[in-house]
Amino acid sequence: MESAVTDVRAKYEAVIGLEVHLQLLTKTKIFCSCSTRFGDPPNTNTCPVCLGLPGALPVLNREALLMAIKTALALKCAINPRSRFARKNYFYPDLPKGYQISQYDEPLAQDGWLEIQTDGHQKRIGITRVHMEEDAGKSLHEGFPDSARKSYIDLNRSGVPLVEIVSEPDLRTPDEAYDYLTRLKTIMLYLEVSNCNMEEGSLRCDANVSVRRVGATDFGTKTEVKNLNSFKFLQKALSYEIERQIDVRESGGEIPQETRLWDSREQRTYGMRSKEYAHDYRYFPEPDLLPMMVTEEWKEEARRALPELPEARTERFVREYALSEYDAGLLTASRHLADYFEQVARACGEPKLVSNWILSELAYLLSEAKKEIGESPISAAHLAELISLVHQGTISGKMGKEILVEMFASGKRAREIMAEKGLEQINDPEKIAVVVREIMAANPKQVEQYRKGKTATLGWFTGQVMKATRGQANPQMVQEILKKELA
Ligand SMILES: [Zn+2]
Repeated sequence: MESAVTDVRAKYEAVIGLEVHLQLLTKTKIFCSCSTRFGDPPNTNTCPVCLGLPGALPVLNREALLMAIKTALALKCAINPRSRFARKNYFYPDLPKGYQISQYDEPLAQDGWLEIQTDGHQKRIGITRVHMEEDAGKSLHEGFPDSARKSYIDLNRSGVPLVEIVSEPDLRTPDEAYDYLTRLKTIMLYLEVSNCNMEEGSLRCDANVSVRRVGATDFGTKTEVKNLNSFKFLQKALSYEIERQIDVRESGGEIPQETRLWDSREQRTYGMRSKEYAHDYRYFPEPDLLPMMVTEEWKEEARRALPELPEARTERFVREYALSEYDAGLLTASRHLADYFEQVARACGEPKLVSNWILSELAYLLSEAKKEIGESPISAAHLAELISLVHQGTISGKMGKEILVEMFASGKRAREIMAEKGLEQINDPEKIAVVVREIMAANPKQVEQYRKGKTATLGWFTGQVMKATRGQANPQMVQEILKKELA
């Protein structure tokens, strides 16, 4: 039975495209000067423009456009020298104007791509377009004494700038979709154009999914899956939707074009409405805004403002610091982490060691404390100092790890902790020799064994010396002195 199910699945492949909405990190809204701050009391950040009052005129936020251009450039898109806003007409209580200002047939940018890792090789996922639009308000259906009878509207979000990034239907599995979204998020965080916070709704993702027979070149009818509030939900919803469509096809049914919602409690998608078509929106050019003309100089300005992106940074880390591709990839997964690594590496000059300390010891402490690198209680300078102490042999690696735990908990510097605990490594050969002789005197039988050729007892002696010095003796020096004294 199991294999029969697998056989049926193997006859099909999924075709997935993602539409991602990102809230841009501007201080003010896209067409007015109201604040975009999240969490302010409802309807306090509003004005005639974002309330949609008659006669109020929109003015484009220059910063929002610059961020959108950077987004498009980072995704290798061509920026259109001329683009235009359009009205997307629909009625909804959170949209007081009765239309959303978006872009339609003349988007800001198009034809880009980004690369994901799939089965160990790179795969290029096309970006159809990047366009700008304003966000709608928010309906509040919960949290009020009369919520059972009424819904409230908060228009603070109305007019917050968004970019929409539409991918080509190049994704074939839920895992690829997950990787694409992860990659996209990483790049956007590097650009600092969005905080990509899914809980606050600054990153939203809808998926278009269809299935077709393996080898077919035409597309099946797609459904649009919404309400994907986390990366996990995206994966689960896609898996569910792919299986559902295959089941429908196998039982001779047809897939209607529709919008479906993911229900995370029931772990299934369900139909919400038949999918609207573009012509339902009666798009037409926004008469209150001029076309956007992006000059070459502007593009250059945006290009110069681009930070080094993760791919390039990974390559540089391999080249400049002689790190493995894998470690470099981990360190560049976030801009904060990559910056932190570089600060520590520059301060102590041991990049390979630094990489190990950050990716193992520090990463462990951070994950235990559920902290991001930006919240690390250990500054880059302090970590560099600790690693140098270990590297120079002032303290052993084992001691270093214990001190790191203390530093993480207390915020103190390594030297402070060492002074408090008397943890300096013993590097004085005379002091070590005294301990060695004491141990030899107390264990004549082992000394005799060693001298008769059982040199394996050297390890046992080393252990005894380390124990007697509470791990503080320089282990290499201990070995040398033992060999000399035992000979
Ligand atoms: Zn406003």
